Amino acid sequence: MACAPESQACSGAPAPQQSRSTPLSVAAEKIPRHHARCSPPRKTRFVTPFSHTIHRPLLALVLALSPLAAPASDESRHPEPATAAVTKVLVRAQRHMVAAAHPLAAQAGLAVLRQGGSAVDAGIAMQLVLNLVEPQSSGIGGGGFLLHWQAADRRLSVIDGRETAPAAAREDRFVPEGRALPFRAAMNSGLSVGTPGLLRALEMAHRQHGRLPWAALFAPAVALAEEGFAVSPRLHALIAATPALAEQPSAAAYFLDGEGRPWPVGHRLRNPALAEVLRRVAAGGADAFYRGDIADDIVAAVRAHPRPGDLAAADLAGYRALQRPPLCGNYRGYRLCGPPPPTSGPLAVLQMLGMLEPQPMARLAPDSVQAVHYFAEAGRLAYADRERYVADPDFVAVPVAGLLAADYLATRAALISPRRSMGRALPGLPAGAQMAPGEDATAAQPSTSHLVAVDGEGNALSMTTTIEAAFGSKIFVRGFLLNNQLTDFSLLPRDAEGRPIANRVQPGKRPRSAMAPMVVFRGEQPYLLIGSPGGSAIINYVAKTLVGVLDWGLDVQQAIALPNMGSRNRQTELEHGSALVPLADGLRSLGHTVNVGDQPSGLHGILIDESGLSGGADPRREGVALGD
Ligand code: GLU
Repeated sequence: MACAPESQACSGAPAPQQSRSTPLSVAAEKIPRHHARCSPPRKTRFVTPFSHTIHRPLLALVLALSPLAAPASDESRHPEPATAAVTKVLVRAQRHMVAAAHPLAAQAGLAVLRQGGSAVDAGIAMQLVLNLVEPQSSGIGGGGFLLHWQAADRRLSVIDGRETAPAAAREDRFVPEGRALPFRAAMNSGLSVGTPGLLRALEMAHRQHGRLPWAALFAPAVALAEEGFAVSPRLHALIAATPALAEQPSAAAYFLDGEGRPWPVGHRLRNPALAEVLRRVAAGGADAFYRGDIADDIVAAVRAHPRPGDLAAADLAGYRALQRPPLCGNYRGYRLCGPPPPTSGPLAVLQMLGMLEPQPMARLAPDSVQAVHYFAEAGRLAYADRERYVADPDFVAVPVAGLLAADYLATRAALISPRRSMGRALPGLPAGAQMAPGEDATAAQPSTSHLVAVDGEGNALSMTTTIEAAFGSKIFVRGFLLNNQLTDFSLLPRDAEGRPIANRVQPGKRPRSAMAPMVVFRGEQPYLLIGSPGGSAIINYVAKTLVGVLDWGLDVQQAIALPNMGSRNRQTELEHGSALVPLADGLRSLGHTVNVGDQPSGLHGILIDESGLSGGADPRREGVALGD
């Protein structure tokens, strides 16, 4: 290993501390549109214009991200808005810290921490504000996974707030006449709406780890919903890129002006209907949402859609968040943990890292053909297993232990040639494997949100939350959007040979996710909290960031900003406009089929070491890290 992340020499000299009395704001600066080439990392460092020190070549690599692509003229499945990528500064703090996808959410989280709230309290306040100001990504109409570290009793726990298929759901729901619906039709329909899980998960987390009263955590979102918030460039661009919103009258009335145009950037958008729902839930708990007139309105909206769904009041009343044991594995002496299935995220990340362990990643430059090659090949193998084996463990025997067994990963890693891409990887045969063909259509996408919080007692929250696609199903009820999470199931229930697909729709089942809220432990202590949106590409985004910190000694902001790359067992993907694009020919000569495109991660992370807390926010989205 070229350098240990714990050594100060590797991460550079400590940055000058910013003011502790006020929130540490993130100075954003437009990046010049240039493609820097990087040489292998050297140990030279210099003080950047952003007053922190990093390796010069790595800075060039980070800066090589260019503005994101223009919005699609017509709605593609996952339109990526024309918001510019910006550089963001590593934020340092001593006492407590948050990072989230919108400054107003992060400010709400920080305010809660200053009032003595716990990491979970801050997470709840941030989530509720995100529901309002980043409505395309997450909210009470959706679900998520929470990973929590309780410092006092040294306990790591997972809450699964994933949506469920309605009790009436049939496995052929997306195959009306023997053929799967086009994805867009399935997504923008009542059929895609699963029973929301978010509020039950937040309630469970608050009962276990909350310090401030539940109702107090709703105050920032309620106030903002009533006073209004400024439409951000990203929200504006995503509304513009999603014409399906216009097809849903209540969504259109909220997201579009009287002429049917997206509200302009800066427009003050008020959401009194959401304020009222949040006030009711603040006073009455999650029951106010899951039973009674709000639940009735959700059901009615799903059933009134031109392509109606079968969600019933009993599905909402019966929804339960689940406590699950964390899934953990090791990499380079660190212990890494996250939620187990029904998310495939941490499992696939741990498999990738297990297969990268024999490779000399620390000696390879992040922008070298060889580093991208090894990373992509490990991805192929992990994604092949994910597709074959992972689904809701309450319905399917997922061979988790077999997939992470050292001998199995060694056998898989041996398939990686240093000189030649394997092309499409086949799934392996881990111990405990049963028949389970599978596939899903999850693409990299611009919705979903990841947030992190560390409180003054060292409790830590890493949470990924989603309504699935941008604006979910587009069905808008009482100021919030309903998810389209059921399209995370395989639309087809059987494979070509007629065998049942593991991730097929079944009543009460949770669709397979890729969300990967993770925590890395150094010794006994949490060292890094990380996670991202991005559909199935989440796995690559999170694994890249982990390699950036653990192998390349980058700080969390630098690692987040590293160009995204990897393979989901199809092409080898390189982030558009990044320093990796010039590697395409070299990769092709190793047999890779290369695709250059948008990689809209939304990584947020906090690193905890002897110098305190440092936070990073993805330059591809609008988030910030804040702390004291
Ligand atoms: N629905 C996806 C999942 O659960 C997340 C979507 C996204 O990241 O944008 O894996």
